[in-house]
Amino acid sequence: MSNVYLLLGSNEGNRLNWMQQAIGQLGIKSGNILRRSAVYQTAAWGLSDQPDFLNMVVLLETGLQPLALLKNIQEIEQLAGRQREIKWGQRTLDIDILLYEDEIINLPELTIPHGFMQERRFTLAPLAELAPDLIHPTLKKSIKTLLLECPDQLEVHTYEQQ
Ligand code: AMP
Repeated sequence: MSNVYLLLGSNEGNRLNWMQQAIGQLGIKSGNILRRSAVYQTAAWGLSDQPDFLNMVVLLETGLQPLALLKNIQEIEQLAGRQREIKWGQRTLDIDILLYEDEIINLPELTIPHGFMQERRFTLAPLAELAPDLIHPTLKKSIKTLLLECPDQLEVHTYEQQ
C-alpha cells in the first residue's frame, strides 16, 4: 500500500458536496482515506472573475499504481460532471495527485510531485496542516518551509473545520 496526498478543489455548484462525494468515491474506488485537512477558501487562481474555490487535502492509502490512480480520479471528476473547456475556468471537482510516497514521475500525462504545488498557497496550506515536516522529494524542503517561502499572495483561509 502507498500513501498519497491528493488536493480536492471545487468552485461551482454545491462545493462542499462535490468534495464530500469525491471522498466517498475515493473510499469506494481507490483505497482508504486516512486523514483529511480542514476545508480552505481561496480566491480563484489564474482567472480571477469567478467564484472562490474550496480546497482540501486528503491522505489516501492505496494499492493502485500512479497511472491507475490518475485514471481513477479522472473517472471521479467525470462523475461530478466536470467540463474541461476553459483552462483554469470554473470546475465542479478537481483532483490533483500532489505526492505519491516519495516517487518522482515525469510522464506526459502525470507529473509527481505535482509541478505547481510549491507556487500555490491553497495547496501548501492544507498540506502543511497534515504533513508539515514531510520533505518534498525533488525540492528537498519541508512542506512548512515551502509554505513560508511561497510567493503566492492570494488569500487562503479556513472555511469549515472538519
Ligand atoms: P487539470 O485540468 O489542472 O486538472 O489538469 C488535468 C491534467 O493534468 C490531466 O490531463 C492529467 O493527465 C494532468 N496531470 C499531470 N500531473 C498530474 C497530477 N499530479 N495530478 C493530476 N493530474 C495531473
